[in-house]
Amino acid sequence: MTNISEPAWFPIALRLDGVRVLVVGGGMIAANKVRLLLAHRAKVEVIAGRLDAEMQRWEDEGSITRIAPTADEATLRAAMPGCRLVYAATDDRDVNRAAAAIARGMNIPVCAVDDPQPSTFITPAQIHRGLVRIAISTGGAAPVLARRLREQVESTIPEGTGALAVFMQQQREHVGTACPDISRRRQVWESFLDGAGAQAARNGDATRARAILDDIIATTATRGEVWLVGAGPGDPDLLTLRALHLMQNADCVLYDQLLSPALLDRVRRDAELVFVGKRRNNHTMPQEEINAELIRRAQAGQRVLRLKGGDPFVFGRGGEEIEALLESAIPFQVVPGITAANGCAAYAGIPLTHRDCAQACLFVTGHARADGTLHLPWDSMARPGQTVVIYMGVSALPALCAKLVEHGLPAEWPAAIVERGTRADQRVLTGTLGSLPMQATEAGVASPALIIVGEVVRHRVLSPA
Ligand code: SAH
Repeated sequence: MTNISEPAWFPIALRLDGVRVLVVGGGMIAANKVRLLLAHRAKVEVIAGRLDAEMQRWEDEGSITRIAPTADEATLRAAMPGCRLVYAATDDRDVNRAAAAIARGMNIPVCAVDDPQPSTFITPAQIHRGLVRIAISTGGAAPVLARRLREQVESTIPEGTGALAVFMQQQREHVGTACPDISRRRQVWESFLDGAGAQAARNGDATRARAILDDIIATTATRGEVWLVGAGPGDPDLLTLRALHLMQNADCVLYDQLLSPALLDRVRRDAELVFVGKRRNNHTMPQEEINAELIRRAQAGQRVLRLKGGDPFVFGRGGEEIEALLESAIPFQVVPGITAANGCAAYAGIPLTHRDCAQACLFVTGHARADGTLHLPWDSMARPGQTVVIYMGVSALPALCAKLVEHGLPAEWPAAIVERGTRADQRVLTGTLGSLPMQATEAGVASPALIIVGEVVRHRVLSPA
């Protein structure tokens, strides 16, 4: 979902048993790659003038074949056909680049070691735990960072993870037969991983692990549920731990346009993402249809995540959704999120209350009715001593400011607008009720944006650089 401006490397895992791989080079750099290739049972052919001790040993044992002593063009051209990968791994960058160019010309994937530019594949830093392989790469941009991340990840992978993977592989068929329904199967495995069964499997006690697994199969109900989760205003770091946990466990995620792509990136990769926002005719999916979709999926046994911008109960129609769920007896959970007012205020440096000037804070919607009119408690909004935060107010901004002045606030009363608050491209404009509409028009401010009215705007403070 994230925009990628640099060409990025697409990770795949390759089967190498019996596959011919050409390695150009006979020194330590080559040996590091050959060791990995042999561990994956590749058929390694080498072009090198001199072999390091380890390489020499592999040749003596017959594990690798030295096919030529010099990496000149004719030799490379003759050696490459039939090879599925090429490693250009001499300590001479020019030789590596020349070999890489020939391989590319023959459409053979090539890795010039420590030189991503001429390479068409790279070998990531790896963690092995038996069947489990974790690969970490920065696309060759920062190998030291990749190594650091590998250390961090490595320390979080429990001992015995390899044994756990083998146990799960052995039980796949059994669980598949016992639970033909895929989402129930996932639930069973999730419960297993959360409990004592996984620990038993890690310790190598397959009998006990299997008993616990069978117990879970017997007790896991085929019951779907709905999680109504607030995702905060945009910065993924503002997700709650609970939101993240549920995003990693949902079978499907229903979301709308307010959600930033950076947030969706945190959802489990194989969860189904369902967009329920603006459709082609530019109309939002009616709330009844969203409710019906939530119910239909939960009744089919899915764990449905309804992900909402900000907080689900602040101008989020969360209340209507749970009423519908209750009517259909669907179990649900509501997870609060940081609402736009909190997120925007914090990231813009504007406090929402202040001992000197704001003893209260009012959240209102600036969304006009179908006939274009705004029905708001103007008299209670146009008061000193408080902050008024207006959601959904971009299009009505001129009308909102004019009404507040009409009801008694001075045109010099401070006001601000925060566009795309907490996101990387957040913009903040500060001014007055008199000036803000023009400022916003000139700057081309668009939704989502939040209006903050009150003397707190004068207390805006930004962190020193
Ligand atoms: N439930 C949401 C609000 C939904 S209404 C919440 O609690 O935040 C949609 C309005 O929220 C938008 O029109 C805008 O006024 C405000 N909003 C949401 N995210 C925002 C953001 N990142 N920056 C500024 N305003 C935002």
